[in-house]
Amino acid sequence: MKILAIGRNYAEHIKELNNENPGEPVVFMKPDTALLENNEPFYYPEFSKDIHFEVEILLKIAKGGKYIQEKFAHKYYNEIGVGIDFTARDLQQRLKEKGLPWLLAKGFNGSAPVSEFVPKDQFDLQNLNFSLQLDGEVRQEGNTRMMLFKFDYLISYLSQFITLKKGDIIFTGTPKGVGAVQKGNILTAFIENQKMLECEIK
Ligand code: MG
Repeated sequence: MKILAIGRNYAEHIKELNNENPGEPVVFMKPDTALLENNEPFYYPEFSKDIHFEVEILLKIAKGGKYIQEKFAHKYYNEIGVGIDFTARDLQQRLKEKGLPWLLAKGFNGSAPVSEFVPKDQFDLQNLNFSLQLDGEVRQEGNTRMMLFKFDYLISYLSQFITLKKGDIIFTGTPKGVGAVQKGNILTAFIENQKMLECEIK
């Protein structure tokens, strides 16, 4: 499986990092070794002093496809989840300044904790609330209405370049409020009011 991720998909988050509004989706990948499942803890890596959380809604690809038309995109994902796109902000900043790829700042071990996946039909995907708490305090609150590029468009767009396969996971971008974690913190992620994911920083 592969993990595809979208950057700069919420306007308020673009502002907080002083980035430019992209004309088309910003896409990156994480290797499968980034995945943390079943509330596994995250081990703070040696190479960074500024690991940030970014809570994001996830799509799980249900069947393979390429050149998917936007109007058929909904058939290619049946389940959603919530995840954290851990980012080594210090390393990312150095790479951005040089115009270099983000891979190491986004794709390191354990940089993709994911929740269980649940059927999408129980939710209004156009108006879906999700949030992140750090040690019980709300730090990020998002709603899919605020996305620049919606789920179906993202599926269609990605599939023009990269064949999607069953089991692939798509991180769909983070709302504002990203921030640093420290060892000992506990992150908890919610879809609507339902706790979906917990991740301890070790
Ligand atoms: Mg992100």
